Amino acid sequence: MLGVVLHAPGDVRVEQREDPRVLAPTDAVIRLAATCVCGSDLWSYRGVNDVTSPTPMGHEYAGVVEEVGDEVRDVKPGQFVVGSFFASDNTCEICRSGFQTSCVNRVPVGAGGAQAQYLRVPLADGTLVATPEMPSDDLVPSLLAASDVLGTGWFAAVAAEVRPGATVAVVGDGAVGLLGVLAARELGAERIIAMSRHESRQKLATEFGATDIVTGRGDEGVAAVKELTGGLGAHSVIEAVGTQESMMQAIRSTRAGGAVGYVGVAHDVALPGEELFYSHVKLLGGPAPVRRFLPDLIDRVWSGAIDPGRVFDLTLPLDRAAEGYRAMDERRAIKALLTV
Ligand SMILES: [Zn+2]
Repeated sequence: MLGVVLHAPGDVRVEQREDPRVLAPTDAVIRLAATCVCGSDLWSYRGVNDVTSPTPMGHEYAGVVEEVGDEVRDVKPGQFVVGSFFASDNTCEICRSGFQTSCVNRVPVGAGGAQAQYLRVPLADGTLVATPEMPSDDLVPSLLAASDVLGTGWFAAVAAEVRPGATVAVVGDGAVGLLGVLAARELGAERIIAMSRHESRQKLATEFGATDIVTGRGDEGVAAVKELTGGLGAHSVIEAVGTQESMMQAIRSTRAGGAVGYVGVAHDVALPGEELFYSHVKLLGGPAPVRRFLPDLIDRVWSGAIDPGRVFDLTLPLDRAAEGYRAMDERRAIKALLTV
């Protein structure tokens, strides 16, 4: 099969890889309907994360089950399924508490490289959620978005305790931040402040439910949010970048008693204990337990209530994946969909 492999920073190749097979009796192999490039793939592409050997890329997936192991009970060949970037048993205490990405038996699905034609998914019954029937082609991008960026934006909104009537600020205008806006709207937020300085992203944020746009960053961004909220800050803030500046911007944009949901993969973030102590701000984040939300998110996509696939503003065939990485790296594209 064809699959995307990162050889060194900036060096993305699409090459022949070995077809995945069922290795454990709890595995499934799926044929991807489409795949995509994630903002978090850029950490490796840019050399922020070390790439010491050729690395299969991709951790977002939706597609049709080809084959299952002997112990797989619920997932059946021929079903269209969506899963998350960590496989989980969905039965341990941590899974049952809704944190499947910290499952005691978790396995990173991305190790198999989802930017490919086929993918092995461990712990298939705990990980995969089937759609009611075979989706039409136009639903595929939104179902693929549910696999990570929508689920992650949704978790951020839930972790930030977005409630009906709340004022929400969103730091980060990548796909996750934009879908955090959409999640906040769906969860009933009254006012949603999107922080972005890119016109096309501001437009999509507004279409997803943003009521205000703030272009300032850092202290300037914080001051703008304070000004829009009577000097108090937002009830709920979504952090979807992962830098020191974005994290502090999120915390300082939150009112006392409010909460930050942080889902940007943290890189060299160090929090000042004393400031945190006096802030009265709650923090919850980490790798989103997308599996917790998948059944609900699939329902909302299926019914047409939400259209998260709109974050894909570039579509390329899999063999041109390198162009997708480049476009996202240069912020010419929000998110690249790769057809297989
Ligand atoms: Zn578990």
